[in-house]
Amino acid sequence: MYAINIDYSRCDGCGKCAVICPRMVFIMEDGLPVLFDASNCGGCLSCAEICPHRCIEVKEW
Ligand code: SF4
Ligand code: SF4
Repeated sequence: MYAINIDYSRCDGCGKCAVICPRMVFIMEDGLPVLFDASNCGGCLSCAEICPHRCIEVKEW
C-alpha cells in the first residue's frame, strides 16, 4: 500500500499527475487533483516525478 500526499499550497492545477498515472488514482476536481482511489497506487512515482512543483509525495506503508 502507498500513501500519497499532495501539497496544494504549491499545486497549480496543471493536471499532469492525473494524466500520467497509469492506475487512475487521481481525478481533477475544481481544477485540482484529488485522490480518486489511492488503494490502486502501484508506487511507480510517475506522478511525483512529473509534477513541476514537487507537490506529490508517495510513501510505502
Ligand atoms: S505512484 Fe504511480 S500509480 Fe501511484 S499515484 Fe503516482 S503515478 Fe499513480
Ligand atoms: S502535477 Fe503537480 S502541479 Fe500539476 S496538478 Fe498535479 S500536483 Fe498539481
